Amino acid sequence: MDRFRRGNKQLIKDLNEALVIDQVRRFGPISRKDIAINTSLGASTVTYIVDSLLKEKYFTEIGSGISDYGRKPVLLQFNQRRSYIIAIKIEEKQIIYGKFDLNARMLDKISHNFHPKDSVEAIFRLMSGQISKWIAADTLLCSGIGIAAPGLVDQANKKIIHSPILEWEEVDFSKLEEEVQVPVYLENDANAIAHAELWDGRGEQFQNFICVTIGAGVGAGIVVKNEIYRGEVGGAGEIGHIIIQRDGFLCYCGQRGCLEAYTSDRFIMAEVLHLKELKLSPILNQLEQLTMDSILQAADSGDELVQDIYRRVGENLGIGLKSIVNFFNPGAIVLGGEGLRAKKYIMPALQKELEDHFFSRHSKKLEIILIDLEENQWLMGAAAMVITQLFKEPLYREV
Ligand SMILES: [Zn+2]
Repeated sequence: MDRFRRGNKQLIKDLNEALVIDQVRRFGPISRKDIAINTSLGASTVTYIVDSLLKEKYFTEIGSGISDYGRKPVLLQFNQRRSYIIAIKIEEKQIIYGKFDLNARMLDKISHNFHPKDSVEAIFRLMSGQISKWIAADTLLCSGIGIAAPGLVDQANKKIIHSPILEWEEVDFSKLEEEVQVPVYLENDANAIAHAELWDGRGEQFQNFICVTIGAGVGAGIVVKNEIYRGEVGGAGEIGHIIIQRDGFLCYCGQRGCLEAYTSDRFIMAEVLHLKELKLSPILNQLEQLTMDSILQAADSGDELVQDIYRRVGENLGIGLKSIVNFFNPGAIVLGGEGLRAKKYIMPALQKELEDHFFSRHSKKLEIILIDLEENQWLMGAAAMVITQLFKEPLYREV
């Protein structure tokens, strides 16, 4: 199948339109003259394209054109309320929905809980119900739905191939798309964070970086030259399953010694249970309920044995990330996720482990950037992914 469109007039028009929209979106308010200078398009071409895009309400015009110093140009501003985007994050037990404008600013948010045993059909019904509700309540058009989900995602075919966290196999989101009649864009959740970071301008600082999310699992979004790198089947970034221990703990993926098996909540819980059995920690012994929060409280109340578990998590993460750094030579590692709730114990150990790597003698230092990974950030990333797709140069649009 020929996915490249031939260089016909329509393609050139679409390319130029995408260029102009991009200029106004990124640099607006901007004059027609500056668009022509920035894009090297002819003045008459810019005028023609802008007129047609104004008709389609992509832009609004601002400024009277008159000033004390003579005629000031009328400026074009991107109309971020031309349409809206729905972003969805699917988690182990809940679905979070966000409504966003075309500048990836959140307008509304809601979430639904579901039971892990609920069928995929039931969860799809829940999602299409909420999507239809929002669509019915708004006079504006919904331009796209961005979905961030854990697991191996086939982006092109809108399928989750395999998601151990959700226990889903071969789940096809084109059914949801047919039902709500709005284009659906599916993405792995760690990649959604990479989209959010690119949108917020991390790409201007670093061309190549890795966003590592630490929570129920450990995942990564890989950015190469400001684009998300997905690998051959869309699975690039599964750093939770690089091996850090020969003949180590069995991981749910079937391998032994995976990074995730030495850093996840499950690892912390297993270590804490072991400590409790040994009755070495008076603070832990008093705890009636073991949750990730109560375990952190035990560390904060001065339990050095629990603090030490977090330190080991930091070391283990550092060892895993060091392999990534040596292999990939990124400009930065961006770290976030609820797994870093104990960051005051985890981070010093992680940073110490990462001080030495193959490139550490180079004058350009690896940056380690800690971000607050709130649920809004995942949603924003899913929305940013859709907006980026909507306005990118249409080279790969189907004939
Ligand atoms: Zn594994």
